[in-house]
Amino acid sequence: MSSTATKSDGRGRPKVRPSILGDRKPSARASAAEREQDIYDAIVASVMGQRLKPGTKLPELALCELFGVGRSLVQKVLQRLAHDHVVQLRPNRGAIVAMPSPEEVGQLFEARRALEASILPLVAERATRANYASLRRQLREEHKAMHRYAQTQWAGLASAFHLRLGELSGNPILYRYLSEIISRCSLVVALFQPPGNATCEHEEHVRVVDYLEQGNVRAAQKEMKRHLIDLEHHIHLVEESTDQSLADMLGLAAE
Ligand SMILES: [Zn+2]
Ligand SMILES: [Zn+2]
Repeated sequence: MSSTATKSDGRGRPKVRPSILGDRKPSARASAAEREQDIYDAIVASVMGQRLKPGTKLPELALCELFGVGRSLVQKVLQRLAHDHVVQLRPNRGAIVAMPSPEEVGQLFEARRALEASILPLVAERATRANYASLRRQLREEHKAMHRYAQTQWAGLASAFHLRLGELSGNPILYRYLSEIISRCSLVVALFQPPGNATCEHEEHVRVVDYLEQGNVRAAQKEMKRHLIDLEHHIHLVEESTDQSLADMLGLAAE
């Protein structure tokens, strides 16, 4: 993966601003569980949409004010987000939007390549002609949808193909690990893929299916490996910025 610093636009690590999260203040009537889900969804959407950048501070009090809820609810949401690797909880320093290290990202993609390579022979062994037909139909529909949507949503659409292969492996345990890894990869891609850098993966997906249906597992694995390495190469990890002003570091800068 390349670790080119993306433009840091001179803001260091901004504090979360109301405009970033949109007008999502839950109504007073919503149940605690609904409010928790609303806040969780709002933060995930902002991260996936690249409005909340890696490393952005998420102070509990600010979130309480923004969402009009109590501290225990905010803490619950932050715990869930940490469990899902969307935020990192730093002892005594509060939560930030996740900023995985190059090592972690490398390990994540390494694990994904290993898992997907082991799933392909099972698919080749177990998938029926009808399965392949529906897989191709799904690919065509996703491809059409992809070009209709903003690029920030492409990762989710592209993941569906990989998840379907996981299902076709017929092994629910492998599927569960795969879906966890894929959602973590999608998050990393959303965090670090510069806008406009998403590529259409349709042809690559089709080639994997072609090889599988021909029973050429080796070629399918090779194609998949190349495809996943490409995906990893599109990630540009943001380097720790060292040009923060004191106001930035104290979280006092308005912009
Ligand atoms: Zn793909
Ligand atoms: Zn295309």
